[in-house]
Amino acid sequence: MADQHSRDAGDDQNNMIPYGKQWIDEDDIEAVVKVLRSDWLTTGPKIEEFEATFARVTGTRHAVAVSSGTAALHAAIFALEIGLGDEVIVPSMTFAASANCVVYQGGTPVFVDVEPDTLLVDPAKVEAKITSRTRAIISVDYAGQPCDYYALRTIAERHKLTLVDDACHALGGQYRGRPVGSLADVNVFSFHPMKHITTGEGGMITTDNPEFAGRMRMFRNHGITSDHHQRDRSGSWFYEMMDLGYNLRLTDIQCALGLSQLKKLPRWVKRRREIASIYDRGLSNSADVKPLAVRPENFHAYHLYVTRLDDNIDRQEVFSLLRKQDIGVNVHYIPVHMHPFYRQRLGTGPGLCPVAESAYEHIISLPMFPRLIDDEIHRVISTVSDVVKHCKS
Ligand SMILES: *Cc1c(COP(=O)(O)O)cnc(C)c1O
Repeated sequence: MADQHSRDAGDDQNNMIPYGKQWIDEDDIEAVVKVLRSDWLTTGPKIEEFEATFARVTGTRHAVAVSSGTAALHAAIFALEIGLGDEVIVPSMTFAASANCVVYQGGTPVFVDVEPDTLLVDPAKVEAKITSRTRAIISVDYAGQPCDYYALRTIAERHKLTLVDDACHALGGQYRGRPVGSLADVNVFSFHPMKHITTGEGGMITTDNPEFAGRMRMFRNHGITSDHHQRDRSGSWFYEMMDLGYNLRLTDIQCALGLSQLKKLPRWVKRRREIASIYDRGLSNSADVKPLAVRPENFHAYHLYVTRLDDNIDRQEVFSLLRKQDIGVNVHYIPVHMHPFYRQRLGTGPGLCPVAESAYEHIISLPMFPRLIDDEIHRVISTVSDVVKHCKS
């Protein structure tokens, strides 16, 4: 196994330090090959094993594996029986999938603004968006930091709403000592290569609610009540389609990879947090580049390391110059309510979420992934410091 703090020479095709990158070792490859040599490529035993392990790691009763984080969000909205006329409150500072899942099932996302220092959903603004049609709140643990779940749960309980955590950034994070995955009624994860662990494509939903879990299992399998493996074991051909579902299954090949990756999660989160503290220290002298705030009750999982540039710095120029110097910076995100689809569909646009809109103009994400070596982190810090000085107006 490669040493945690070094990478093989010639590992990368070019000199570009990407903003995120997966880490696949020989033991991951062996785990996948073992399944390829077995009888079950899909709907086999690795799925239950991955689900049970994931539920244990996140401190929940049920985990349901699906084909992507987007599929996980879709299944969650289905399980909640959200449909035409129903509203779901979604923060605007997120990836579009957080809101699209509501539209898939015929519901309406209602965009809400975020807090200026963390870019996490603002609970006071959530409460102001609640109407008689509101059914659920989707919180997003942006960059890997959990939202204010004490406030969000209180609001959800007061208004009898279901709380869904889009935790795609936050696997391995904690809020007041409780693991992400156990903080909301339904919690959603992605295993895209940019996320904490990968299965190529993949996703998971965790919940303590057995009814939700059952509905999501049915939804990922065409709306059919039992899967192939269960029928094989019970020796029966009988099945019924109870609702309209999809094929959103994760394969045993992918689940074996997920199980192997999950073993490394604590070590990788630790490394992400080390990298964040090196960035924090390295940028602490600069008034022009500020990391987002971290609340003391949070154990940040650092999917992203997001910084905010001072107002007098041209973000576009910083971005271009850093890319030119092989620092693979990125911008997370264009506020979802600003996308043409939502402007046309829901009439959203500038002014709806002013904090997110203004933050979007100034944020930039620095490279963050566990295989980043110390030399690279210091190269990022010095290049960013130089470029920012150059781009001051
Ligand atoms: C990655 C991500 C998703 C979608 O996950 P996929 O596995 O790519 O479908 C959803 N929400 C957020 C916040 C994400 O970062």
